Amino acid sequence: MSDSNVPINRPTLAVWKFASCDGCQLSLLDCEDELLTLAKAIRIAHFTEMTRASTLGPYDISLVEGSITTAEDVERIKVVRANSRYLVTIGACAATGGVQALRNFAAPGEFAAIVYAHPEYLDSLNTSTPISSHVRVDYELQGCPIDRGQLLEVLLAFLAGRRPVIASYSVCQECKARGTVCLLVSRAVPCLGPVTRAGCGALCPSIDRGCFGCFGPSDDANCDALATRLKGLGTTESSVARLFGTFNTAAPGFAEQAQALRVNVAVSDTRRRTPEEPRS
Ligand code: SF4
Ligand code: SF4
Ligand code: SF4
Repeated sequence: MSDSNVPINRPTLAVWKFASCDGCQLSLLDCEDELLTLAKAIRIAHFTEMTRASTLGPYDISLVEGSITTAEDVERIKVVRANSRYLVTIGACAATGGVQALRNFAAPGEFAAIVYAHPEYLDSLNTSTPISSHVRVDYELQGCPIDRGQLLEVLLAFLAGRRPVIASYSVCQECKARGTVCLLVSRAVPCLGPVTRAGCGALCPSIDRGCFGCFGPSDDANCDALATRLKGLGTTESSVARLFGTFNTAAPGFAEQAQALRVNVAVSDTRRRTPEEPRS
C-alpha cells in the first residue's frame, strides 16, 4: 500500500561499512521512533545491515562507518565518494582509525602474530587510517558509538542544506550541566572529559567512572596539560597512555599522549604464538 504523504523523489541515503564493529550503523536502527518519519524524508537505497535490497547510485548522502585497512578498502572508498553528493563519516573508526589504529605504531604484523594462529593468511594493510586520509569528507560525526540524536541532527541538517549543530566543547560542560560532582577534582579519578568532545551527556562520570575519550578530542583540547595534571595526581605514565590510546588512539592530540603505550607494545614480552603452537 502506498503512502500518499511520502514524496516519490526523496533524497537517497546509502550506508557503507569498512573496518568496524557495526555499532555506529546500529545507531541508525536505534532511531526506532524517528525511523518511520525519517523514511518519509529519505529513501534508504543501500544499507546491508537492514536489507539486502540495494539501489545503484549516485546517492545524495552516504554514511560511512569504519576505517581503511585493506587495499580493497582504498579502492572501494573512492567509488563510494564518486557516487555520493555528501559523504558523512560516522564514528571513531571512520574519523580517526579506531582502536585498530594501534597497529599503526607497532611493527608490521606484530598484533596479528599474537592473535592469529596463521597470520600469513591475512591480507591487510599495516595501518588503519581514517576515511579523510583517502577521500574528501563533508562531515565527521564522532563517537564510539555515535549518538543517535546527533546522527538525526546531521541527517536533518544535510537535508535542509545547513551545517549540523553539534557541540564542539568538552564533556566537562555536559558534566556540569547535569550536576555531576567532578570525579577528577573530588577523588583524583583519571578522566579525559576536559579534552573529549561532548555528545554523550557525560555518561561515564554520571555512573561514577572517568571518561576514556570515546568521542575523540574536543576543539582546542589541551591534552598536554591534562596528561601533566593526571600524572601529578598519581596516575602512572602507562595508565595515562592507555587512557589516551583506546578508541581514538591515532587522533591528533591523543596520539602524542599514547606514545608511551606504543613503546611498551614495541618492547612487550607478550608471548607470541607460533604456527606450531596450539591455541590455548
Ligand atoms: S566507532 Fe566504535 S561503535 Fe562505531 S564502528 Fe567503530 S568500534 Fe564500532
Ligand atoms: S568528572 Fe570528568 S568530565 Fe566531569 S567535570 Fe570532572 S573532569 Fe570533567
Ligand atoms: S563519558 Fe567519555 S567515554 Fe563515556 S561515553 Fe562519554 S565520551 Fe565516551
